[in-house]
Amino acid sequence: METEVYLGLGSNLGDRMDNLTKAVECLSQKVTIGEVSSVYETEPMYYEKQPLFLNAVVSGMTELEPIELLHFIKRIESELGRAPGPRNAPRTIDIDILFYGDRAVNTPELTVPHPALAERAFMLVPLAEIAGDFVHPLSRRTVGELLAEVSGRDGVKTWVD
Ligand code: ADP
Ligand code: MG
Repeated sequence: METEVYLGLGSNLGDRMDNLTKAVECLSQKVTIGEVSSVYETEPMYYEKQPLFLNAVVSGMTELEPIELLHFIKRIESELGRAPGPRNAPRTIDIDILFYGDRAVNTPELTVPHPALAERAFMLVPLAEIAGDFVHPLSRRTVGELLAEVSGRDGVKTWVD
């Protein structure tokens, strides 16, 4: 059975646009890509003295179970040259599972929906573009409602190549 998933992509090292494009290409081996948001240039959160990110969100359908999807994503991240490093550090590519259908997953390795979604304008702005009416399965709020409440939307700008 296939499940609809939403994935957040981010890059702030190297050729950022190329990294996003390659990530979508790799993902498409196991995730039938549906919608792709615009690309946004965003200010880093948490550790702010690092380069600006490009962020985008894609939807897709996959047969992979949540943990299999996570492992697939981690393989893509290492293939695209992401060196292991601290959380929130610069990276060639970061791929996060935002939603896996309406499932909730809570293991040490994986939390879905993504636990920081509601505080991250850089995820909510692109997500709202393709899934504004999607209902968060735990808070029962729509993506559009979460976006209306998040701070830092000014730090997320449509990116023009
Ligand atoms: P961050 O994305 O917060 O900057 P990392 O990409 O380094 O940090 O991820 C750290 C760990 O977070 C991953 O190794 C993964 O096991 C875990 N993780 C938990 N939930 C998720 C999720 N929903 N999507 C992606 N990774 C997740
Ligand atoms: Mg990540």
